[in-house]
Formats: sequence, C-alpha cells, structure tokens
Amino acid sequence: MYRYAPTPHKGRREAVFLISVAVLCAAALCTWGITHPRLQAASSSVSAAAAAVSPVSPAPVSSAASSAPTVDRQSWQLRLVNASHPLPANFSVKTSAVGNVRFDARASGALQKMISACNTEGNHLMACSGWRSISLQTTLYHDEIRSKQSNGLQSGAAVAAAAAVVAPPGTSEHNLGLAVDLGSISNQLLDETFAGTPESRWLVKNAASYGFILRYPKGKEQITGIIFEPWHYRYVGVPTAEEIQRKNLCLEEYLA
Ligand SMILES: [Zn+2]
Repeated sequence: MYRYAPTPHKGRREAVFLISVAVLCAAALCTWGITHPRLQAASSSVSAAAAAVSPVSPAPVSSAASSAPTVDRQSWQLRLVNASHPLPANFSVKTSAVGNVRFDARASGALQKMISACNTEGNHLMACSGWRSISLQTTLYHDEIRSKQSNGLQSGAAVAAAAAVVAPPGTSEHNLGLAVDLGSISNQLLDETFAGTPESRWLVKNAASYGFILRYPKGKEQITGIIFEPWHYRYVGVPTAEEIQRKNLCLEEYLA
C-alpha cells in the first residue's frame, strides 16, 4: 500500500512528466506528418532518376499505356463502307489530285508520299483509280446491268451478276475517296497478277508505314465479301494500318 501512495511532490513531478511526454508526442507527430510526404516524393524522384539512367529498368506501366496510340473508331479515316454499310446518296468529300486520280484531300499527301517512296527504290508504282463519285458509280452499275441483260440474263440475275463486277452505288470504297487501285508501269490489269510484281511486294512490306492497308486480303474473302484484290489499298491512318497488319486483320474485324 505504501509504495503506491503518491506524495504531493511526486504527483507534481508525474504531471510535469506526462505533459512533457504529450508535448514530445505531438511534436513527433507533426514532424512525421510534414516530412513523410517529402520522403515519399524524394523517394519517387530517386526511383525516377534511377529508372532514367539504368538501361535495364523496365518502363513504368503507366508510361507504356499512355504511349500506345489511341484511335477514334468514329473518325473519318475509319469509316466502314461495304455492301451492308453503304454511303448515303448525298455523300460528298473534298478531293485533290494525285497523279491522274483524285483522292480524299486529307490523305492525298500520304498517298503521294507512298508512291514516291516506292519509286525512289527503283519501282514504277502508279495510281490507276481513286475517288469515284456516287453518280458515276450509279452509271457504271446500271451500264453493267444492261450489259448482263443484253447477254440474255433476266433482271434479277442481271442485277446479281452486275453487282459481282461493279459495286452498287455507295457501297464502293472508291466512293469514299480513301481507296486506290494501284498498278505498275508494266501491269495495270488490276488482277491477281499484280501480286507478283516488285511494286506489290514493296506495298505489302511498307504500305502500313504510310497509313494504307491491303483492304481485301487473301483468306478474308468470307468476311470482306470481296475477292482477293492485291491492287486495292485503303487509307486508315498509320496507327491503325500498323495494328491491322501486325494482327493480320481485315477492316471489318478491326472495327467489330
Ligand atoms: Zn479498288
């Protein structure tokens, strides 16, 4: 009992001691609260500096994600045009000349650069057909139907046969202004023989670097609805063209 009976003097000393401890704790907490974020920031800076100078440090995940190209799938260069996605009859686009053809003015520079780059390497690539108005497409289509009918086909069969040769108005990428049929000085047949030319081999290797894809590849006929056309290229922009080539997709698959 005695040992636990505090004297008045001892009580004052305990009070002073407790107040001192409280003050010291508060000071310590304040100090930690101020310095801790600084320590974290300093630590991050050191880590960032180490990452910058170390050749083996992996890039932070956030940086890798932010550097990946993001493509707006609603953008003009990704517009899908095929038999089930026709253009409206009043569709129009501003075009400019590339050689003897016209092309969407926003992508004509890329087409010109691609042709020039190919020919700088000793090839003779040329644009044979580019933008085609929907009214011209309508004329070509109806001419083809009449031709089939004059060969003895009934109207329904004539329309189907014509559509296999000439795309119905609005369903051709040439109406969009972003498709080009390419040939060489020695091959402007626009058939499978173009695949055997040095110009075609150059395109297969390099077109994506200029934003172009081989639009109707071999093996994708069931998806595109179009036969293999080694001469028909479509502008989609560089990031998309490179992704489509890397993943071996056609445009329908990419946009699905
Ligand atoms: Zn074409």
